[in-house]
Amino acid sequence: MIPAAFDYVRASSLAQAIELLRDNPDGAKLLAGGHTLLPALKLRLASPELLIDIGGISEIKGIEVGETHVKIGALTTHAELLASEPLNQIFPVFREAANVLADPQVRNRGTIGGSLANADPAADWPAVVLALRAEIEIAGAAGRRTVPAEDFFVDIFTTALEPDEVLAAIRIPRPKPGTRYTYRKIRHPASGFAVVGVAAGVQMQGDIVADVSIGITGAANHAFVGRAASDFLIGKALSQDNIGEAAKMVGDITECLSDRYAPAEYRADLIRIELGRALLALSS
Ligand SMILES: Cc1cc2nc3c(=O)[nH]c(=O)nc-3n(C[C@H](O)[C@H](O)[C@H](O)COP(=O)(O)OP(=O)(O)OC[C@H]3O[C@@H](n4cnc5c(N)ncnc54)[C@H](O)[C@@H]3O)c2cc1C
Repeated sequence: MIPAAFDYVRASSLAQAIELLRDNPDGAKLLAGGHTLLPALKLRLASPELLIDIGGISEIKGIEVGETHVKIGALTTHAELLASEPLNQIFPVFREAANVLADPQVRNRGTIGGSLANADPAADWPAVVLALRAEIEIAGAAGRRTVPAEDFFVDIFTTALEPDEVLAAIRIPRPKPGTRYTYRKIRHPASGFAVVGVAAGVQMQGDIVADVSIGITGAANHAFVGRAASDFLIGKALSQDNIGEAAKMVGDITECLSDRYAPAEYRADLIRIELGRALLALSS
């Protein structure tokens, strides 16, 4: 398939990209890695008049490890997240998740910012940033703002981004001592996307759960926090019974997507099973 005709500008700064978005409120699209947008153009699912290539904007590239936070530029590729030693020393969950995301070709071009901004209900990073309690840094014509990941994913392919805004970075608080994270995914056999993906973090104090965070993708219209399970587990032992009860709570209350491959009841079961397995892995 051949895309509809469009104009193309390679933005040299964030300010220029924002100005172009502001001047073309209905007809412009940002281009990052292109691994979602280009197929959409070819299939004519999107036909913007202007493509604003942000791939060369150095301000939104790279990984910074700070005293209190880790900051990941929106243009950081999946492959860079997989390979970064400083990042994975603190959050090995990035390697775990990037390893099961697509294939090396997609990982070399696709960006975490593009994935989060696109908000595909089956994408992997949304679950991870929710479990990490990340904040999304957004730059727009009205200035900068920060949105907790939990409020960023609004609906299917819909986020808190306004049309004239760019996702600039992901800011993650350093983990509290003793916190461990994991990501588990049931891959769709054809697309490789998550039928259900679960990211979880657990902080233990002795035998008692001091904190839990859970992000779930693939199951519903958008990635969400498994709050019922966290509320239930905090202050309890991470026993098989408690894990089973917590996982059941999230599966029971989630309104799941349904398709020919995975009906809603099956997805709800996968939440129960995969969340249970993730918590069990963090209990040992
Ligand atoms: C074969 C294949 C397999 C895949 N498998 C998986 C998988 O298993 N798991 C998974 O999670 N993903 C998967 N993906 C998607 C892949 O991760 C994409 O790279 C990602 O979803 C989009 O990132 P991108 O940088 O390519 O964005 P682009 O395609 O350039 O853009 C995607 C959308 O986000 C917008 N956008 C991009 N960057 C920004 C920004 N900084 N601010 C605001 N808006 C922005 C664009 O305007 C566009 O609407 C797969 C893709 C392919 C082609």
